[in-house]
Amino acid sequence: MRAPRLAMAVCILATLCSAQTPEERAAKYFDSVRHQPGLLLAFLQQMPKGGDLHVHLSGAIYAESMIDWASENALCVDRSTSKLIHAACDSCETYKPKPSIRCAYQDHVLYNQLVDAWSMRNWHREEESGHDHFFATFEKFGPAMEKHIGDALAEVASRAAADHLQYVEVMNTADGGQAATLGTKVGWDDDFSKFRDKLLANGMSDIVASVRAQADADEVRKKELLRCGTAQTAPGCNVTLHYLYQVLRGLPKEQVFTQILLGFELAKADPRFVGFNLVMPEDYYVPMHDFDLHMRIIEALHTFYPAAHVSLHADELAMGLVPPEGVRFHIRESIERAGAERIGHGVAVMSENDPIGLLKEMAKKNVLVEICLTSNDTILGISGDRHPLRIYMKYGVPVALATDDEGVSRWNTALFRARVCGAILTKCAALQTAKTANPPADVRSFWTAANARVCNGNWKKPSPNSKKSSNAGNR
Ligand SMILES: [Zn+2]
Repeated sequence: MRAPRLAMAVCILATLCSAQTPEERAAKYFDSVRHQPGLLLAFLQQMPKGGDLHVHLSGAIYAESMIDWASENALCVDRSTSKLIHAACDSCETYKPKPSIRCAYQDHVLYNQLVDAWSMRNWHREEESGHDHFFATFEKFGPAMEKHIGDALAEVASRAAADHLQYVEVMNTADGGQAATLGTKVGWDDDFSKFRDKLLANGMSDIVASVRAQADADEVRKKELLRCGTAQTAPGCNVTLHYLYQVLRGLPKEQVFTQILLGFELAKADPRFVGFNLVMPEDYYVPMHDFDLHMRIIEALHTFYPAAHVSLHADELAMGLVPPEGVRFHIRESIERAGAERIGHGVAVMSENDPIGLLKEMAKKNVLVEICLTSNDTILGISGDRHPLRIYMKYGVPVALATDDEGVSRWNTALFRARVCGAILTKCAALQTAKTANPPADVRSFWTAANARVCNGNWKKPSPNSKKSSNAGNR
């Protein structure tokens, strides 16, 4: 009787094993490596991750690429500040204050100085403010980006492919300052409708056309670098990139108004531009002082573009960084007045007025929070239990992990997920995103957001459009 019993047991086990879904197999493996950092990282690296919805283009680039592009742009660097400058460069001797950036290739001290100054590498929180070091990087390396947007898109797409992302929304001030210039030329008008009319009549459509043409050219360059459509096509060709126009909210009000209008116009005219976002440090004087005005502008202009999507940075703040009154309403106002469907960061949510009511409202309205753990840690000093990620999840608010500024932070998407590994990730290995459906372009980013949600914790509430991929769980 022993042999038949054993055969029956094996048979039952085999049946059970074969009955395991790819999700269950992935979850089981995930559980087995959860406390083994090396294996966990390898697992998360390979895991299909859906979309990265919060990516600043220049912040996504590594300093080493910036040095190459600055070199191609024939720029010099100020040794004392590590800032790139347009000037006649000094020679490479170490006592010269403004050598060519190309000198860094032979001068490892200068090269290392630049990589450290243009990123968070070797930054020590005991010695320097993370907030100040982080935000200062952009003005140091900024000129390197000139004429290299296509190169930057190729780098973002390549890295996204390597990290098994399928979709990235890239934030960039794609007009090169044209909208700000137009705003200054036309001048402020308290009547927003009239102000809009004047801007439309005085060159806004030319700016829209110019941005679209530049995006075409940048994409050509990206495809050329990635050899898309050839026998040697790079994996980055398969990553869909869409754009969010970046409004610089620290600028004068007429410039901010014009940039917001351009954001709405671009979203209307070109499906690659899926919306806009307000950027620059939220705690700076103008973003804090003009916050109410900015909400009023978006609220008013939204009525002309009711189908437009809005995602806003809100509460990339911490108590003490600004007075307590400054952290009590940015998320709520962004949602209730500006109509934001997604919130970037949302770190200070528990300092808002009636935070529990706000969390419930966000869950009810399906407002997704783009969670940027590494930059929150380095810029704001908020991490671990002080970060509200788990509170958002507890109240059913959709969340998506995002990189924010991968190049400056030097921290990739797999590492991000490794930091929050837990039950929220058990379903992720089985997920694919945009491959399984073909939604219209204008809803794609928000559909993808829903997938990102699935991948990042709120998988109990998948988008109505989402399906399981046929090749899910092959890993
Ligand atoms: Zn951001």
